[in-house]
Amino acid sequence: MIDLAVCELISVGTEILLGDILNTDAQFLSQELAKMGISVMHQSTVGDNAERLTKLLEEASQRSDIIILSGGLGPTPDDITKEVCCEFFKKKMFLHEESLEKMKAFFAERKREMPENNIKQAMLPEGCVVFRNDNGTAPGLAMEKDGVHLLLLPGPPRELKPMFFESAVPYLKQFSNKTIISHNIRTFGIGESAMAEKINDLFDMQNPTVAPYAKDGEALLRVTAMADSEEQAEKMCRPVIDEIKSRLGDVVYGVDYTCIEEAVVELLREKKLRVATAESCTGGFIAKRITNVSGSSEIFECGIVSYSNRIKNEVLGVSADDLERYGAVSETVARQMAEGALKVSGADIAVSVTGIAGPNGDGSGKPVGLSYIGLADKNNSWVTELKTGRTDRDYNRYVNASNALNMIRMYVRNEK
Ligand code: ATP
Ligand code: MG
Repeated sequence: MIDLAVCELISVGTEILLGDILNTDAQFLSQELAKMGISVMHQSTVGDNAERLTKLLEEASQRSDIIILSGGLGPTPDDITKEVCCEFFKKKMFLHEESLEKMKAFFAERKREMPENNIKQAMLPEGCVVFRNDNGTAPGLAMEKDGVHLLLLPGPPRELKPMFFESAVPYLKQFSNKTIISHNIRTFGIGESAMAEKINDLFDMQNPTVAPYAKDGEALLRVTAMADSEEQAEKMCRPVIDEIKSRLGDVVYGVDYTCIEEAVVELLREKKLRVATAESCTGGFIAKRITNVSGSSEIFECGIVSYSNRIKNEVLGVSADDLERYGAVSETVARQMAEGALKVSGADIAVSVTGIAGPNGDGSGKPVGLSYIGLADKNNSWVTELKTGRTDRDYNRYVNASNALNMIRMYVRNEK
């Protein structure tokens, strides 16, 4: 076993350099390697160019024990990864009969003739460990020279991921005796700096580590522990997560949730409350996000997209006078929309959003990014004003919906 093997990733493909595709393979590999306790120290991307790839391999083999390459294993002339790696390690190629047979079967099954240049995919370096590809034609492989290991994986994620788990992980086990566990603490309604103030001292911890980051207008904390076993790593994370939850309080909506709607649906189900929505600028986005969550039929009554003033008035019963006097984007209208949706739906609570998503204003002189979010139950109604200060339509709509969802969450949490 090598102590603390250094690993690096090389993504091969001109389309990544051009920005045509996002390098999700590198993200996936880095995340999975971290879980195994294998440290990725470098990531680079190189085009489909033999000279530049060779140069990169020279550098990489000086500083890393494991080099994982993705992409360029296909049959076309621009797929050169394997050829360049063999040349670099001075390995001869042989025809791997099993791969050839598999490839022939692959084409026969699809009633297609196998192009001659596909044979090159069955040519493998001597002494390599072959990684089967059950989702495509190009096998992956691992080869070693002077203590440096090259792992070659196909570019398409649907081929790379299963091959990584089925073949690369068993191969890489020799380099890892550690398990890394991470948990994400999700918050809503607190900025990154306000959060930092409350838990600043925790950022200095070494194991587990606590790292903040922002995503979709939310502040997140990632707690990561490394240990000899999963159980032990979990045990190390738990007190830190509890400490953070107790310091931050209500703003934490969950640990390892992917989004706030998951937390909202769970809370509503727990309390057996049904919700309705009345949406203007979000155009049904809140309803969409709630119904994305499996099991939402238990708690979702209906969504009304009341885009025009006429529908706000005729369906939701918003006063025509108030629409005229205060404008559609106003506290009064938001409140009446929520109250109207509650009445029409017969739900236990209703939320509403009316706002100016942008990029252009609505001619009223009110700023883009302004919105009012309402919530009504049988006895009461509440409205909050939100100013994002941004003109990005997608962002504003997303954040409006998130705030409406958070308002439901806070209501349910505080309801006695
Ligand atoms: P193929 O046999 O399909 O040609 P390959 O191993 O030769 O596979 P590439 O030709 O480099 O792989 O890429 C094929 C496709 O795989 C790309 O068009 C892209 O859709 C996807 N892909 C490649 N590299 C990556 C990456 N780093 N992240 C995400 N997707 C990728
Ligand atoms: Mg290719």
